[in-house]
Formats: sequence, C-alpha cells, structure tokens
Amino acid sequence: MSLLDLPAGAWRATHPPASTRRPRLPEFERGSVWLVGAGPGDPGLLTLLAVRALEEADIIVHDALVSPEILDFARPDVELDDVGKRAGRPSPRQEEINARLIRHARRGLRVLRLKGGDPFVFGRGGEEALDLAAAGVPFRVVPGVTSGLGGLAYAGIPATHRGLGNSVTLVTATDSRGELPEDLDWAGLARARSTVVFYMGLRKVDRVAANLLAAGRDAATPAAIVSAASTPRQTAIYSTLGELAADAARFDPAAPALIVVGEVVGLADALAHGDSAMASLAAAL
Ligand code: SAH
Repeated sequence: MSLLDLPAGAWRATHPPASTRRPRLPEFERGSVWLVGAGPGDPGLLTLLAVRALEEADIIVHDALVSPEILDFARPDVELDDVGKRAGRPSPRQEEINARLIRHARRGLRVLRLKGGDPFVFGRGGEEALDLAAAGVPFRVVPGVTSGLGGLAYAGIPATHRGLGNSVTLVTATDSRGELPEDLDWAGLARARSTVVFYMGLRKVDRVAANLLAAGRDAATPAAIVSAASTPRQTAIYSTLGELAADAARFDPAAPALIVVGEVVGLADALAHGDSAMASLAAAL
C-alpha cells in the first residue's frame, strides 16, 4: 500500500475526496536525480516528495544513515546502491559517488540519492548537486528534517525557546581530515542563551566541552548527547557542560549522535516524550 493512496475512510463523507485536495507532486522524470533527505530515522518524518521518490525510483543510492524501514517504501524491484561506510570497508570516495549518480541517470534511470537528515546539512548534497549541474543532469533537491533540529525534538529539546535560547548554531565537530575544525568561533558558541548542536562529535566530546568552558561558557549549562534520535534505538544522556565528558565516558553512547549545549536542554525534563514518539512509529510500521 502506498502512503499517498490510503483507502477511503468513513470520514471522507464530510470532506471532498482526498485526491482532489492533495497537492500535485512533480513527476520523477527518467534520467533525472532527486537528492532527498530521509530525516533522522522515523519514517513519519519523510516528506511527501520523499515518499513519491521512494515509490518511483528505479535505483536508490543511499548512505548507512538511512534506516531500513524507510527503504521499505521502495518498489520491490528497485536496485539498491549502498554507498555508506561498512564495517572495515571504507565508503566510496565522494567523486566516485557523484560519477555513479551521473552514470545511472545517463542510463535513463530515475535515480534517488537518499541521505540521512537534510541533504544540505553536513550531507555533502551541495557537492553532488554541483557535479550534476556541471554534467547537465536534471536534478531536484528535496529537503529533509535535519537530525540536529527534528531529532532533538524527539529527545524533548526545542532548538530555540523564548528566554532560554535565542539562536541555534549547527556545527560540525569533524573536518575533511577527521579532526576538530581549527577555525570554530568558540567565543561565539560560548555566548549565554545560544543553543549549539554538534554533528559528528561523539569521539570529541571532551575537547568540545573543554573548548566551550575555556571560552567562558558556564559549566552548569545543561548539555546532552542524543543517539539514534527518532529511531527505536534512541537514547539520550542529559548532563551539564561541566560533566558531559565524564558522563559520555561512563555511558558510552552509540553513533550516530549529537551533542547539544544550551539552556533549552533543561526543558527535556518536562518535554521528553520518547515513549509516545516511539509508539507512533511502531503503529505506523
Ligand atoms: N545530513 C544529516 C547529517 C549528516 S552528518 C542531517 O541533516 O542530519 C552525520 C551526523 O549527523 C552524525 O555524526 C550525527 O552527529 C548526526 N546524526 C544523523 N542522524 C542522527 C540521528 N538519528 N541521531 C543522532 N544524530 C544523528
């Protein structure tokens, strides 16, 4: 059954038929590439365009971050091209992935490039789009829910909140060499009432926390590490900036994980709703 084709229910008697009210979605043309964000994990966070792309694609080029439940939306005869990192085996180089997308499109296939979260947030979607544009391959970008905003919501953490968080910064803790970037503005990130979300920082929690403390952020600032947000494996460690590194060493959270620092993390006590979120996910499967 397709998500876009739910069977008619009794409620429709009082509504116009759903088919006339639904937005018309663009065609997935043969020989084109859609760069699609799959969100942080929960299939309920897919966009309508992402579902359309999954249902129509001839080939899906996907990362390790994309959950299997999401690939279940695809056609049974779809070709899967897994370019994610596998235990012990490195993922193909970015240029090789870009070349593959172009090759698949030139074979006349509907090519779905599926990425975790949002393709343009630390997803290298921009690099792929630039290569497709240069090669003259038609493409469309379908934004997704980025883990550092929507994923955090599943752990009860609003990215901003009046009085507690008046800005949010999405930061990568890993540069192209695999190191903590040298040019991060730690003084800016240490400002009170700013929310800072670090992607790809799990192995660098101690240095991230130490840099923020050295730049003047209060050790009592609430901080958390959220793993596998919006999936059935979601876990969260709620701590403070001063104790985050020790808590990470003690609880050893799993990848993928986000580090979030800011007063907004303190709202999780009242807002964490992981159980109900997971119940709705289970019901949808
Ligand atoms: N494009 C993705 C980010 C890719 S970079 C997005 O918009 O979310 C990979 C990093 O994203 C991971 O190291 C981790 O920090 C974060 N991440 C992705 N999915 C996650 C999830 N479900 N839970 C926690 N962190 C996640």
